Amino acid sequence: MITVTGARKNYGSFAALDDVSIHIPSGSLTALLGPSGSGKSTLLRSIAGLESLDSGTVVIGGNDVTDISPQKRDIGFVFQHYAAFKHMTVRDNVAFGLKIRKRPKPEIDKKVNELLEIVGLDGFQHRYPAQLSGGQRQRMALARALAVDPKVLLLDEPFGALDAKVRTDLRTWLRRLHDEVHVTTVLVTHDQEEALDVADRIAVLNKGRIEQIGEPEDLYDRPHNDFVMSFLGSVA
Ligand code: ADP
Ligand code: MG
Repeated sequence: MITVTGARKNYGSFAALDDVSIHIPSGSLTALLGPSGSGKSTLLRSIAGLESLDSGTVVIGGNDVTDISPQKRDIGFVFQHYAAFKHMTVRDNVAFGLKIRKRPKPEIDKKVNELLEIVGLDGFQHRYPAQLSGGQRQRMALARALAVDPKVLLLDEPFGALDAKVRTDLRTWLRRLHDEVHVTTVLVTHDQEEALDVADRIAVLNKGRIEQIGEPEDLYDRPHNDFVMSFLGSVA
């Protein structure tokens, strides 16, 4: 579904992405895992079109989108600090993308009800974002990102700002959402446990390069090098 080939991104003489190639299969939930500064966000933002590469290509769903604007890439994006519309109810926040696309009301209602149910917010649809907990707000963000049926869902440390218990709950919600909607998902995290818990594939990044990519068990059983071994081994 997503294929990045030979991606390079420099900031001055510093290589944030140093010849990264990665294939992300359709319907998978792939984690980009690595220490702070390893290039995870830069890679994710390049897939989204929020960074332009110095060289390399990004192909999504068979289309070369390297020079295509973010709006035309058919992507849902969820950040650590999610900006909800404060003056809109939960329901209107989730419906927003469908309304600006002028979809018929019955279609909007059906889609929004379905998503609010999946993320466990059906009882909260008439509240405002300020009346939600941090975890509920991120669940709203997930529903909103998926309302317009994007080909790809990109998440950059979406649970990073929340406390441990809520983070663990959100993993379960994300997994549930992914199992229901089957959208190709890429999750950036520096948390080994989170990646192991939620992803079906993990790419380990270090200094702008991919050290290894595979299923969680493969990485544990057959780490390619000392970096992968020690990074995965540092799970609390
Ligand atoms: P991660 O998400 O893995 O923590 P990033 O992709 O955000 O890492 O950043 C990778 C490296 O690139 C870091 O060393 C960071 O300081 C650097 N970097 C990222 N964005 C910029 C920028 N706009 N200007 C200069 N350096 C940047
Ligand atoms: Mg980052």
